[in-house]
Amino acid sequence: MKVNQAEFVISAVRPSQYPEDGLPEIALAGRSNVGKSSLINRMIQRKNLARTSSKPGKTQQLNYYRINTDLFFVDLPGYGYAQVSKTEREKWGKFIEAYLTGRELLKLVLLIIDLRHPPSKDDQAMYAWLKHNGLPVCIVTTKADKIPKGKWQKHIKIIKETLEADKGDPLVLFSSEIGLGKDELWQVIEERIGY
Ligand code: GDP
Repeated sequence: MKVNQAEFVISAVRPSQYPEDGLPEIALAGRSNVGKSSLINRMIQRKNLARTSSKPGKTQQLNYYRINTDLFFVDLPGYGYAQVSKTEREKWGKFIEAYLTGRELLKLVLLIIDLRHPPSKDDQAMYAWLKHNGLPVCIVTTKADKIPKGKWQKHIKIIKETLEADKGDPLVLFSSEIGLGKDELWQVIEERIGY
């Protein structure tokens, strides 16, 4: 997809604030600091539209970015942030679960995983939950530039095994730093939204 226009639309804190354009939505899930904002910026070739390293703790907002008049990226709050209280985490659960299970315009969830490390318990729970709820998932392993190319396949294998990933789910090797995987990820997205 050629991105001509990308803009931040809203940090939605309740469903009445979700955009009403009817465009397909692609959600991004992953633990805090995994690189979701960087991935959005790389996909749209902008340095700073999605705020990188913004303070975690905004546990209940969905950040909507409109791409052309084709789709929205919906950045979900990062999970697994240690300093967030249990009550906050529970709120996170309810709000996000309601969005993920109830939003008909949601076409795909990108589960962002750090290629360097085996998926955390939170990552595993998230993947299992998404599959349990029948949501289409694409696993994106990011920060690939941080490990030597010769080790990529070994790390991918561990990630697939730890998640018990469905063979049918696409996995895209990614690096926001060097742009690796960008075209492939756009292809997966375009296919899902029937572009
Ligand atoms: P978010 O909290 O998931 O939105 O994570 P950010 O996008 O803010 O990224 C967290 C940190 O990881 C920042 O310092 C980024 O510069 C860094 N980062 C994100 N993606 C990559 C990547 O692909 N390669 C490298 N080397 N660093 C990355």
